[in-house]
Amino acid sequence: MRIPELFKDGHTVLSFEIFPPKKDGSIETVYKTLDELTDLKPDFISVTYGAGGSQPGCSTREIVSIIKEKYRTESIAHLTCVNSTKADIDRVIGEFKEHGIENVLALRGDINPDIEPKKEFLHASDLIAYMKERSDLSFSGACYPECHAEASSLDEDIANLKRKVDAGASHLVSQLFFDNEHFYAFLEKARAAGINVPIEAGIMPCVNAKQIQRMVTMCGASLPVKFTRLIARYGDDPDAMREAGIAYAVDQIIDLAANGADGIHLYTMNNPYVARKISESVSKVIR
Ligand code: FAD
Repeated sequence: MRIPELFKDGHTVLSFEIFPPKKDGSIETVYKTLDELTDLKPDFISVTYGAGGSQPGCSTREIVSIIKEKYRTESIAHLTCVNSTKADIDRVIGEFKEHGIENVLALRGDINPDIEPKKEFLHASDLIAYMKERSDLSFSGACYPECHAEASSLDEDIANLKRKVDAGASHLVSQLFFDNEHFYAFLEKARAAGINVPIEAGIMPCVNAKQIQRMVTMCGASLPVKFTRLIARYGDDPDAMREAGIAYAVDQIIDLAANGADGIHLYTMNNPYVARKISESVSKVIR
């Protein structure tokens, strides 16, 4: 099923994001994670591209196929283009076609200062336009409630996001955020700019203090006082931090659902325990 179809009946879509196992991980760990996550009946599961993606038997493409075929759950393959040539993308299109993959989260990818970008695709919108001409795939894109780090303003970033939608992205997934007000302000601007596709809110349950620091450095999300107090109080106590992090995410999700968000995209960090706790806490709220 093409992802935009999932939004048509008006329920709050719930999706999970997982990443392929690290280099020393095995496909068995993927099965274990998927056994538990698919049991929670998300609308779809997306699989990131990059971390360990080249490991035989554990590529993004292979995991997406497993989710669809073995678990009968819809899935999206993330795909970045900053280090790809057109020939690389042609090969990927062929593979997706061969394996019946319909949905792609098309991304530029972060620019690694140690790797010279191929420069055949400058933006995610270029990747979408290129693939759309050559395939019948359904495209999703990323969006940034607190502005992408390279954009000079949120207005500029949203104008670029509109280009991505005009190129063919028919569904957007947001970067994680900890203050729903940023998401609402972004949504208002995006809608005013004529972006009318479903936009899912990205929620990262922060269950340990180290992970929070890493995530915030990586994605630039701001931390509201309510959240920093929680880290200050429970950051050194793993059990308490996990409980508090789950409760914080549940609180965010309930507020988003009550405000009519199209969907919630849970960055599960391959942690089925956390995904289960959250799903069970909001099962009546988001359906
Ligand atoms: P773009 O949409 O190309 O935007 C990048 C910058 O260029 C922005 O500042 C934007 O304003 C500007 N821009 C965009 N289009 C134009 C245009 N036409 N003209 C001028 N400027 C433009 N990374 C991975 O490596 N693997 C993953 O699996 C992955 N999954 C992700 C999932 C989500 C939901 C999100 C939010 C991010 C993910 N990322 C992933 C990170 C992502 O690759 C980085 O955030 C990257 O820096 C930007 O990717 P993008 O597709 O948003 O880029």
